[in-house]
Amino acid sequence: MKARYEKLKNRFSELFGGAPEAFIQSPGRVDLLGIHTDYNDGFVLPIAVDLNVAACGRKTDGNKIRIHSVNKNETAEFCADDIRKDEVCFWSNYCRGVVKYLAEAGAVFGGADIVLQSTVPIGSGLSSSAALENATGVMLQTLYGVEMSGKDMALVGQKAENRFVGVSTGIMDQFVSRNGKKDHALFLDCRTLEHKQLPLDCSRYKIVVCNTMKERGLVDSEYGARRAQCEEAVAVLQAHYPRVKALRDADMEMIEKHKGELTEKQYMRARHVISENERGLKAIEVLRAGDYEAFGRLMDRSHDSARDDYEVSGPELEAMVGISRRAPGALSGRLAGAGFAGCTVSLVEAASADAFSEYVKREYAAVCGVVPELWVCSAENGAGRLSEEELN
Ligand code: ADP
Ligand code: MG
Repeated sequence: MKARYEKLKNRFSELFGGAPEAFIQSPGRVDLLGIHTDYNDGFVLPIAVDLNVAACGRKTDGNKIRIHSVNKNETAEFCADDIRKDEVCFWSNYCRGVVKYLAEAGAVFGGADIVLQSTVPIGSGLSSSAALENATGVMLQTLYGVEMSGKDMALVGQKAENRFVGVSTGIMDQFVSRNGKKDHALFLDCRTLEHKQLPLDCSRYKIVVCNTMKERGLVDSEYGARRAQCEEAVAVLQAHYPRVKALRDADMEMIEKHKGELTEKQYMRARHVISENERGLKAIEVLRAGDYEAFGRLMDRSHDSARDDYEVSGPELEAMVGISRRAPGALSGRLAGAGFAGCTVSLVEAASADAFSEYVKREYAAVCGVVPELWVCSAENGAGRLSEEELN
């Protein structure tokens, strides 16, 4: 058995005695396109990555659930039929919320002992939270043979995070963490949840995430302001085009025609969302054709539009994007997630990944005075049971 799973199994028997019945994995994610399109009912294009939660577990009699996080070195314990928020062991609320909404969705399960360990950096924007939610859900699903689609499992995770933990997020994180596919990027329509798997050959190209090491302080207030501007733009357009329910339904012609009725900011925000959705659709063609150069250009334009029209970049992100675009083997550089600070993401020729990483670390440290963290990632499968082959 691989060292990581052996360790997990040993921790399990130390804590709970005996051996686990099943092993699962649940990945973090990064977005390649779709900056601030989710709440505009638009398109996003993330991948599930090879940074993940690994967990092992066993059914138990009764309905007590015990979950140990190796990262936190803490065990949470609660009854599946009496879920309450825990203010002390805060991380367990992600798991508690999933158990609550799984049961509400009709899943039948009992008690479980679970040990989990995550390689997703916590709080860096790679969605360690969605990885934790899906790990909880998929473990119970595996142990009890619960029938639930990947889409419904993602919705359970999102509900847990929004309603139980109290963090407002779109559906992208949970959806791709559950439904991602190895060597594919996932095109997701945030309105209908229809999705397509698009080929992304990670033996030839890596996805490199670069952490600016600058915390995303502005996100909450600025995020709210952007959402409001989008809604205002929709209200203006809806007066002329009743079918425009979200910026997803608008096009360039509409905003040009009614430019005079929109404030400058509303116009800019709408233009970003419309052009970003166009890039999302274009990516379907480009990736199906295996045109990685063109895909890299779409990622670059995504960033430029987020910086100029949506105004969600920041000095550290600009430094990192500039450096990463110049680095060896780079096909693109753009901000990841909601922007302001946090991480960037680049498409990089696999053979140049090491040279890329060295260059970015050196140059960014010289400009910003801090050595950035980098993760060289591949597109991986979404959360699921690990096979004998994968374990050994
Ligand atoms: P991220 O961008 O990583 O998703 P969030 O703030 O959304 O950042 O989620 C991070 C939170 O998720 C942590 O503070 C913790 O409560 C929980 N979490 C994530 N991974 C783990 C883990 N392996 N063990 C315990 N808690 C975790
Ligand atoms: Mg999160």
